[in-house]
Amino acid sequence: TYVVTDACIRCKYMDCVEVCPVDCFYEGETMLVINPSECIDCGVCEPECPAEAILPDTESGLEQWLELNNTFSAQWPNV
Ligand code: SF4
Repeated sequence: TYVVTDACIRCKYMDCVEVCPVDCFYEGETMLVINPSECIDCGVCEPECPAEAILPDTESGLEQWLELNNTFSAQWPNV
């Protein structure tokens, strides 16, 4: 899965949302998150993000961001 990280905070450029084929972005007040169980790992959102906030969870050190994306995608509205 891909995860949204802290560079999204107060950015929310939203181009990632437009390209996601499975609509798995969810929006909170200050950032977006990806629902890890809906993401199909296609990778098309990553280059669309001008803040480089979207990263594959295979990168090291993203465990907490994965957990946050998982938790908040269950609470925030789909976009
Ligand atoms: Fe959506 Fe693909 Fe990005 Fe996953 S990797 S959030 S499916 S655009």
